[in-house]
Amino acid sequence: MVNNFIKILISELEKIKKSNRYRFLREISSKPDKHVTLNNQEVLNLCSNNYLGLASHPEIIKAESEAAKKFGAGSTGSRLITGTTSLHLLLEEKVAQFKKTEKAIIYNSGYMANIGILDALTDDKDVILSDELNHASIVDGCRISKANVKIYKHKDLNHLEHQLKESKKFNKKIIVTDSVFSMDGDIAPLDGIVALAEKYNAFVMTDDAHATGILGENGAGSGEYFGLSDKIHIQMGTFGKALGTFGAYVAGSKELIELLINKSRPFIYTTAIPPGVLGATLKSIEIVQSDEGKKRREFLLKKATLLRKQLNKVGIDTLGSETQIIPVLIGDEKKTMAITEKLLENNIFIQGIRPPTVPEGKCRLRISLTVETDFNKNF
Ligand code: PMP
Repeated sequence: MVNNFIKILISELEKIKKSNRYRFLREISSKPDKHVTLNNQEVLNLCSNNYLGLASHPEIIKAESEAAKKFGAGSTGSRLITGTTSLHLLLEEKVAQFKKTEKAIIYNSGYMANIGILDALTDDKDVILSDELNHASIVDGCRISKANVKIYKHKDLNHLEHQLKESKKFNKKIIVTDSVFSMDGDIAPLDGIVALAEKYNAFVMTDDAHATGILGENGAGSGEYFGLSDKIHIQMGTFGKALGTFGAYVAGSKELIELLINKSRPFIYTTAIPPGVLGATLKSIEIVQSDEGKKRREFLLKKATLLRKQLNKVGIDTLGSETQIIPVLIGDEKKTMAITEKLLENNIFIQGIRPPTVPEGKCRLRISLTVETDFNKNF
């Protein structure tokens, strides 16, 4: 019995290996810095989401341990039982103030937030209109929900309008988009999306995972960047990237939050985020909103513009990137992973990205810069 089971697994693994899509883990044994120790080798880290360098910020680490000392190592229960500490409520208030919305709630991860929101807000009489390059968690949210799903071409407002015209029979229409696309680093045309939503009586949901802390005067994300915060019905984002900690949020009206608390299964049926992470995230948002945060994001985006220009000058296609995420299009799986390994031989770490994370034939190196990225050391 067991042998048969293992045989089946081996044959599946062989198939993955043959398609050049075999994945494995690499071990980091140092702090998340501009250089990290990867499998005992010091490398320049060009693929971390620690965009503002906050994951190793001493004030944030201090806030984390102080919160754990006061409230304990774990949250001891789900949010609706014993898992809501004063820190959960404080962070939710802080996020609402940061995002300038009526209310906010915290999820344990962005993945859980996306599947939880889309499932809770829709049924089989509704439609979700989703950009073809949206993150896997949105894709899975669409799959889990009972809603009808229409995929529009990447950032294509004409195609989106066409689909909205064909969606008259549905009750609720929700347009959902990454605001900064995770594998491309380009920005969704939110002004156009909001205008279409108003014209066709649809609702808008943004995923600010890669925009939180980065876009907008105060780093509040795409709503602030476009001046459209009050026109986006559901604003989701994560703490695990520019904010350097862990978890996610949803910001919006008090009714939206009330409904999610009542209906969203990944919010209800899981142990709440531990206090240390909340203390760290509170400090992190404070830093993002301060002059220090502003300086960090401006410096990061300047650095990204400079690198993009240099890559484009030598004919490298960066796929329309406008932010700290800079893809270098390679094409097929084998070549992409061979380049990743070659770069590692030269002490440079840039992970190759393959399907299903990106479309067939669009394998790439996904460079993500952090404020600390330093090209001047001897690499
Ligand atoms: N949305 C986007 C656009 C992402 O890139 C990610 C993380 N890769 C997520 C959601 C999921 O967030 P988390 O890592 O907090 O689960």
